[in-house]
Amino acid sequence: MTSPHHDLLHIRSIGKVTLEFTTRCNLKCTYCAVTRPWHRKNDLDLASFDVLVEEMKTLGVRTVQISGGGETTIVRGWDLYLAKLLDAGFQVSIISNLAKPMTDHAIRALSLCGEITASIDTTDPALYEAIRKGGSFDTFTANIRRIRAQCDQEGRKPPYMIWNAVASDRIITLVDQWVASGIALGIDHFQISEFFQYDDLPGAISINPVGSMSDEDLARARRAVERARWLAKDAGKWFAVLPSVEEALHGSRKVMRTEVELDHGEGRPVFRKSRTFVQIVHADGSRHEAPQPPPGPMLPGKKTKNCFMPWTEAFVWATNDVAPCCMYKRIRPFNGADLAAALNSPPFVEIREGLLTGNLSHTCNLCPMFEMVDIEEFRRSVAERLGVDSLLATPVPRS
Ligand code: SF4
Ligand code: SF4
Repeated sequence: MTSPHHDLLHIRSIGKVTLEFTTRCNLKCTYCAVTRPWHRKNDLDLASFDVLVEEMKTLGVRTVQISGGGETTIVRGWDLYLAKLLDAGFQVSIISNLAKPMTDHAIRALSLCGEITASIDTTDPALYEAIRKGGSFDTFTANIRRIRAQCDQEGRKPPYMIWNAVASDRIITLVDQWVASGIALGIDHFQISEFFQYDDLPGAISINPVGSMSDEDLARARRAVERARWLAKDAGKWFAVLPSVEEALHGSRKVMRTEVELDHGEGRPVFRKSRTFVQIVHADGSRHEAPQPPPGPMLPGKKTKNCFMPWTEAFVWATNDVAPCCMYKRIRPFNGADLAAALNSPPFVEIREGLLTGNLSHTCNLCPMFEMVDIEEFRRSVAERLGVDSLLATPVPRS
C-alpha cells in the first residue's frame, strides 16, 4: 500500500546509466556531427570515476551502457574502466565502431560485456570505407571474430551483438546484404536508425536521408528492407526499423534536418547553437520546413510520448553533464557525486511533468524515438513502474 499523493515526478532508483567517455572519434563518418570542425572535443572527468561507480550502485543501477557521440576505445585506459564496471557487478553494454586494432586485454573486456552494438552502415567494404572514413572493414570484422573466439575459448556465451546502420539512400537498398553478412558473423540484432542531416562535409561522399529518395528508389528500398526482415526472421534474429524511417520508406517525404549556428572568430568556426526540425521534400528535390506541432497538449484526445526514459535512465555526457536521454545534452552539470540529486533537479522534473501532462518540451515533441499514447494510460504505466496506485499518484506535487 502506498501513501496518497505519491509523487510521480521524482525518482529513487534507475535501471540504466549511459556513460559517454569522450566526444572524440578515430573515424570521420560523413553524416556525423563529430566530424564537423565546430564539434566540441570533450572527455569525461575520470578522476571521480570510482565515486560515480558507488553512486550508481546506491541508485540500484543494473546496466551501464558505454556510448555517446564519440568512440570510447580511443580513450587511454578505456578497457581498465570497462573492467572496473564489470568487477562492480554491472551488466555492461557498449557501443563502438570496433575500428581500432585491439589488445588481448581489450578483446577480453569486450567479450565480458552483455551486449555490443557496433555501428556499421554497410558490408560493402568500399562503401563502408567511403562512408566511415578512416575505418577498415577487415579490422572491424576481425575484432568481431576475436571477441567470439575469446568466448569460445573460455566456454562462455558471446555478448549479444547488435549492428546499427544510419538510414540513408546509399545503404538502404543494400540492407538485405548487410543482414545476410551479419548473420554469417553471428550478429543477433539489426537496427536501422534515423539520419539527422547536417550540411555536407566538404570532400566526403554525399549521402541523403531516405525521405529524399525518388519513388522508384523507395520501392527498391522497401523490397530490400522486406527481404532483410525475412532473412533475419528466418535466422531467428531481430530486425528493427525506427518508426520515422519506416514512414519515410512508405513515402512520408520527411527528413530530419539539423542546422548549426557558428561564431566565426579566431581561425576556426565555434559552435553557438543548433536547431533540429522536420523538412518535407518535394518531387523536384526542394524542401520546406514542416509546421511545428503546437506547444501544450497535442491533440484533443490528450496524447503524450510513450517514453519512460526520464524515470528509468540517466545519460552522463563527456561534457560532465547529466540528462535523461540522448536527445538532451547540457541540462544539468554533474561532477560524478550525488547522482540522485541531479536526477531530481528542476530540469528533470520539468521533463517528467511534460510527459505526464502532454505539455511536451520542444525536444520531446520532436523526438522520433517514441510514439504517441493516451495520457491517462501513460500515467498509469508510470505509476505501475514506480509500484504505486495511479489513482493516488499526482504528477504535479512540486512546492
Ligand atoms: S564512428 Fe560514430 S562517433 Fe565516430 S564519426 Fe562515425 S558515427 Fe561519428
Ligand atoms: S526527448 Fe524523447 S527520449 Fe527524451 S525524454 Fe523526451 S520523449 Fe523521451
